[in-house]
Amino acid sequence: MKFKSIYSPDDYSSGFFILRRMQEIKQLLNNAKSIVITTHKSPDGDAIGSSLALYHFLKSNKEVTVIVPDAFPSFLNWMNGSENIIHYDTQTEEAEKIIEKADLIFSLDYNSLTRIADLSKPIDQSSATKIVIDHHQDPQDFADHYIVDTMCCSTSQLIYEFIENVGELDKLDKTIAECIYCGIMTDTGSFRYPSTTSKTHQIIAHLIDLGVDGSKIHQEVYDTYSEHRLRLLGYALTEKMIVFPEYNAAYISLSQKELKRFSFKKGDTEGLVNYPLSIDGIKFTVLITEKEANISLSFRSKDDFYVNKIANEHFNGGGHIYAAGGMLEMSLEEAIKKVEEVMKQNN
Ligand code: 5GP
Ligand code: MN
Repeated sequence: MKFKSIYSPDDYSSGFFILRRMQEIKQLLNNAKSIVITTHKSPDGDAIGSSLALYHFLKSNKEVTVIVPDAFPSFLNWMNGSENIIHYDTQTEEAEKIIEKADLIFSLDYNSLTRIADLSKPIDQSSATKIVIDHHQDPQDFADHYIVDTMCCSTSQLIYEFIENVGELDKLDKTIAECIYCGIMTDTGSFRYPSTTSKTHQIIAHLIDLGVDGSKIHQEVYDTYSEHRLRLLGYALTEKMIVFPEYNAAYISLSQKELKRFSFKKGDTEGLVNYPLSIDGIKFTVLITEKEANISLSFRSKDDFYVNKIANEHFNGGGHIYAAGGMLEMSLEEAIKKVEEVMKQNN
């Protein structure tokens, strides 16, 4: 029997509701033999952190595989289990065989099949029970169960709460704790975005008690730049940042040629979009990146300026109120023009 369950923050405050739903989820976990964990394309720290945390939690007595649509940045390679992750774009056949066998599929840190690119086909076709655990708005209808809290800072925090709600926090070890720590750290901008709550800090305190060295994880993620990456950052801020104080907005654009000049590697532009927000008065920033086949856009904002709606209405994307993404199929010049127009309109 299938049922839909969307957990909202209100549901979380209803102990009885959680208990009843969690009993059903526990039953599914107990009955599952082969579990697949998936996350979104261009996986970030929260995507890989939440996936590997759940992987380690489940793998003691189940067959569990993490499958991602494509590669993730090398600054996440230190996480235990990252070497076992299957990449759908380069290991398609192997991934499809595993998905075919799966009886339970988790979708972590995404809520629409469009977010997993070509991996959407085998996931959509699979008859396995599907559980979404995510913190984005407007979940699409493709799964059987939804554990969604749009107020939560990260999917990694939701994984901690999931383990808490199935009553197995005693199973948390240092390995799981490191993955959760990394996901929360990266999605909260190192515990500073407004989504960081006292509960987040309580969880972090517990993770540290389990042996996590937060300073070491911060170094692994943020102090492992290549020289090229740091020079690309310098170039982007000095030469490529366009600031419109009158619109409280700024953008940075990077062409393929420029990326090649700095020997671009996956993850090298991560975080770049945030820098213009540190200018006094700037509330809205965009990073426009020319990819091989299209233009990718990253949006960030603060205060009373929300970017998810803008990403959705103008840039075929979506996300959170202060962090969103999108994609355009046009030239870089046309994309820049479009961004400038949107900045003018939404001033
Ligand atoms: P980033 O700029 O780091 O790639 O993405 C920022 C946020 O927006 C992330 O939470 C990410 O999940 C979300 N996001 C990025 N691209 C898209 C997209 O194309 N569609 C939707 N719905 N969300 C996106
Ligand atoms: Mn996330």
